[in-house]
Amino acid sequence: MNTKNLRDLLLDQLADMYYAEKQLLKALPKVAKAANHEGLRAAIEDHLDETGAHAQMLEGVFRNLGETPKAKKCHAILGILKEGEEMMDEYKGSPALDAVIIAAAQKVEHYEITTYGCLLEWAMQLDNPSAAAVFEAILDQEKETDTELTKLAREVMHESAAEDAAGGTMAVEEESEDHSTLALSTSR
Ligand code: FE
Ligand code: FE
Repeated sequence: MNTKNLRDLLLDQLADMYYAEKQLLKALPKVAKAANHEGLRAAIEDHLDETGAHAQMLEGVFRNLGETPKAKKCHAILGILKEGEEMMDEYKGSPALDAVIIAAAQKVEHYEITTYGCLLEWAMQLDNPSAAAVFEAILDQEKETDTELTKLAREVMHESAAEDAAGGTMAVEEESEDHSTLALSTSR
Protein backbone atom coordinates (compact mmCIF):
# COMPACT_ATOMS: atom_id res chain seq x y z
CA MET A 1 0.00 0.00 0.00
CA ASN A 2 1.07 3.56 -0.67
CA THR A 3 2.29 5.06 2.62
CA LYS A 4 2.38 8.66 1.42
CA ASN A 5 0.51 11.01 3.73
CA LEU A 6 -0.64 14.62 4.02
CA ARG A 7 2.77 15.76 5.28
CA ASP A 8 4.35 14.28 2.12
CA LEU A 9 1.79 16.10 0.03
CA LEU A 10 2.51 19.37 1.82
CA LEU A 11 6.26 18.93 1.27
CA ASP A 12 5.67 18.04 -2.38
CA GLN A 13 3.59 21.15 -3.08
CA LEU A 14 5.97 23.28 -1.01
CA ALA A 15 8.78 22.14 -3.32
CA ASP A 16 6.51 22.89 -6.32
CA MET A 17 5.90 26.47 -5.12
CA TYR A 18 9.56 26.96 -4.24
CA TYR A 19 10.37 26.09 -7.87
CA ALA A 20 7.56 28.33 -9.15
CA GLU A 21 8.64 31.37 -7.09
CA LYS A 22 12.21 30.98 -8.33
CA GLN A 23 11.05 30.78 -11.96
CA LEU A 24 8.99 33.93 -11.42
CA LEU A 25 12.03 35.72 -9.99
CA LYS A 26 13.74 35.09 -13.33
CA ALA A 27 10.74 35.95 -15.53
CA LEU A 28 9.26 39.05 -13.88
CA PRO A 29 12.07 41.55 -14.68
CA LYS A 30 11.54 40.90 -18.42
CA VAL A 31 7.77 41.24 -18.07
CA ALA A 32 8.09 44.54 -16.15
CA LYS A 33 10.38 45.89 -18.86
CA ALA A 34 7.87 45.01 -21.60
CA ALA A 35 4.95 46.81 -19.90
CA ASN A 36 4.00 50.21 -21.35
CA HIS A 37 1.73 51.46 -18.57
CA GLU A 38 3.82 52.94 -15.77
CA GLY A 39 1.51 51.74 -12.99
CA LEU A 40 1.59 48.21 -14.40
CA ARG A 41 5.37 48.22 -14.57
CA ALA A 42 5.58 49.48 -10.97
CA ALA A 43 3.09 46.84 -9.75
CA ILE A 44 5.13 44.05 -11.37
CA GLU A 45 8.36 45.41 -9.91
CA ASP A 46 6.78 45.58 -6.43
CA HIS A 47 5.56 42.03 -6.78
CA LEU A 48 9.04 40.94 -7.88
CA ASP A 49 10.30 42.04 -4.44
CA GLU A 50 7.48 40.13 -2.77
CA THR A 51 8.29 37.07 -4.89
CA GLY A 52 11.87 37.09 -3.59
CA ALA A 53 10.52 37.25 -0.05
CA HIS A 54 8.12 34.37 -0.78
CA ALA A 55 11.01 32.11 -1.84
CA GLN A 56 12.83 32.93 1.41
CA MET A 57 9.69 32.38 3.49
CA LEU A 58 9.29 28.95 1.90
CA GLU A 59 12.87 28.10 2.85
CA GLY A 60 11.86 28.92 6.42
CA VAL A 61 8.94 26.47 6.20
CA PHE A 62 11.27 23.71 4.97
CA ARG A 63 13.53 24.33 7.97
CA ASN A 64 10.51 24.46 10.31
CA LEU A 65 9.65 20.96 9.05
CA GLY A 66 13.21 19.76 9.56
CA GLU A 67 13.83 19.50 5.80
CA THR A 68 16.33 21.15 3.45
CA PRO A 69 14.76 23.47 0.86
CA LYS A 70 14.24 21.60 -2.37
CA ALA A 71 12.60 22.64 -5.64
CA LYS A 72 10.43 20.31 -7.69
CA LYS A 73 9.85 21.11 -11.35
CA CYS A 74 6.46 22.80 -11.64
CA HIS A 75 5.06 22.07 -15.09
CA ALA A 76 2.08 24.34 -14.51
CA ILE A 77 4.09 27.52 -13.94
CA LEU A 78 6.42 26.68 -16.84
CA GLY A 79 3.36 26.30 -19.08
CA ILE A 80 1.80 29.58 -17.94
CA LEU A 81 5.11 31.40 -18.43
CA LYS A 82 5.74 29.86 -21.84
CA GLU A 83 2.27 30.75 -23.07
CA GLY A 84 2.65 34.27 -21.67
CA GLU A 85 5.96 34.69 -23.46
CA GLU A 86 4.46 33.51 -26.76
CA MET A 87 1.53 35.91 -26.41
CA MET A 88 3.85 38.79 -25.56
CA ASP A 89 5.78 38.08 -28.77
CA GLU A 90 2.56 37.94 -30.79
CA TYR A 91 1.35 41.28 -29.37
CA LYS A 92 4.70 43.05 -29.25
CA GLY A 93 4.22 46.71 -30.23
CA SER A 94 0.40 46.40 -30.16
CA PRO A 95 -1.92 48.51 -27.98
CA ALA A 96 -3.18 45.27 -26.39
CA LEU A 97 0.25 44.23 -25.09
CA ASP A 98 -0.41 45.47 -21.56
CA ALA A 99 -3.68 43.51 -21.47
CA VAL A 100 -1.71 40.40 -22.52
CA ILE A 101 0.78 41.00 -19.69
CA ILE A 102 -2.00 41.47 -17.12
CA ALA A 103 -3.78 38.29 -18.24
CA ALA A 104 -0.58 36.23 -17.99
CA ALA A 105 0.23 37.74 -14.58
CA GLN A 106 -3.26 36.96 -13.29
CA LYS A 107 -2.96 33.36 -14.46
CA VAL A 108 0.24 33.11 -12.42
CA GLU A 109 -1.41 34.70 -9.37
CA HIS A 110 -4.39 32.37 -9.57
CA TYR A 111 -2.12 29.35 -9.71
CA GLU A 112 -0.30 30.64 -6.65
CA ILE A 113 -3.55 31.44 -4.82
CA THR A 114 -4.82 27.90 -5.43
CA THR A 115 -1.68 26.17 -4.23
CA TYR A 116 -1.06 28.43 -1.22
CA GLY A 117 -4.71 27.98 -0.27
CA CYS A 118 -4.20 24.17 -0.25
CA LEU A 119 -0.92 24.48 1.65
CA LEU A 120 -2.60 26.68 4.27
CA GLU A 121 -5.41 24.18 4.73
CA TRP A 122 -3.03 21.22 5.04
CA ALA A 123 -0.74 23.04 7.49
CA MET A 124 -3.77 23.67 9.71
CA GLN A 125 -4.88 20.05 9.46
CA LEU A 126 -1.35 18.95 10.39
CA ASP A 127 -1.45 21.25 13.39
CA ASN A 128 1.43 23.42 12.22
CA PRO A 129 0.34 27.01 12.97
CA SER A 130 3.71 28.57 12.13
CA ALA A 131 3.73 27.08 8.61
CA ALA A 132 0.05 28.03 8.27
CA ALA A 133 0.88 31.65 9.20
CA VAL A 134 3.55 31.82 6.49
CA PHE A 135 1.22 30.39 3.82
CA GLU A 136 -1.52 32.78 4.86
CA ALA A 137 0.81 35.80 4.68
CA ILE A 138 1.94 34.82 1.18
CA LEU A 139 -1.63 34.01 0.10
CA ASP A 140 -2.76 37.51 1.16
CA GLN A 141 -0.07 39.15 -0.96
CA GLU A 142 -0.95 37.02 -3.99
CA LYS A 143 -4.61 37.97 -3.60
CA GLU A 144 -3.77 41.67 -3.25
CA THR A 145 -1.65 41.47 -6.40
CA ASP A 146 -4.52 39.84 -8.28
CA THR A 147 -6.93 42.59 -7.15
CA GLU A 148 -4.41 45.27 -8.16
CA LEU A 149 -4.05 43.65 -11.60
CA THR A 150 -7.83 43.72 -12.11
CA LYS A 151 -7.82 47.46 -11.31
CA LEU A 152 -4.92 48.00 -13.69
CA ALA A 153 -6.71 46.07 -16.44
CA ARG A 154 -9.50 48.66 -16.30
CA GLU A 155 -7.12 51.60 -16.14
CA VAL A 156 -5.08 50.36 -19.08
CA MET A 157 -8.24 49.87 -21.17
CA HIS A 158 -9.63 53.29 -20.27
CA GLU A 159 -6.39 54.96 -21.17
CA SER A 160 -6.08 53.23 -24.53
CA ALA A 161 -9.75 54.04 -25.27
CA ALA A 162 -9.02 57.69 -24.44
CA GLU A 163 -6.06 57.59 -26.79
CA ASP A 164 -8.24 56.15 -29.55
CA ALA A 165 -10.79 58.93 -28.96
CA ALA A 166 -8.01 61.49 -29.26
CA GLY A 167 -7.21 60.04 -32.71
CA GLY A 168 -4.28 57.74 -33.04
CA THR A 169 -1.67 57.81 -30.34
CA MET A 170 -1.84 60.65 -27.85
CA ALA A 171 -1.10 63.91 -29.61
CA VAL A 172 2.48 64.49 -28.64
CA GLU A 173 3.67 68.05 -28.54
CA GLU A 174 7.24 68.50 -29.59
CA GLU A 175 9.20 71.67 -29.37
CA SER A 176 11.02 72.48 -32.56
CA GLU A 177 14.55 73.81 -32.63
CA ASP A 178 13.54 77.46 -32.60
CA HIS A 179 10.69 76.99 -30.08
CA SER A 180 8.30 78.71 -32.47
CA THR A 181 6.19 75.85 -33.79
CA LEU A 182 4.53 72.77 -32.37
CA ALA A 183 4.74 69.48 -34.19
CA LEU A 184 1.81 67.16 -33.64
CA SER A 185 2.28 63.47 -34.05
CA THR A 186 -0.83 61.49 -34.76
CA SER A 187 0.82 58.59 -36.49
CA ARG A 188 0.29 55.11 -35.17
FE1 FE B 1 4.52 34.39 -4.83
FE1 FE C 1 2.62 36.08 -7.05
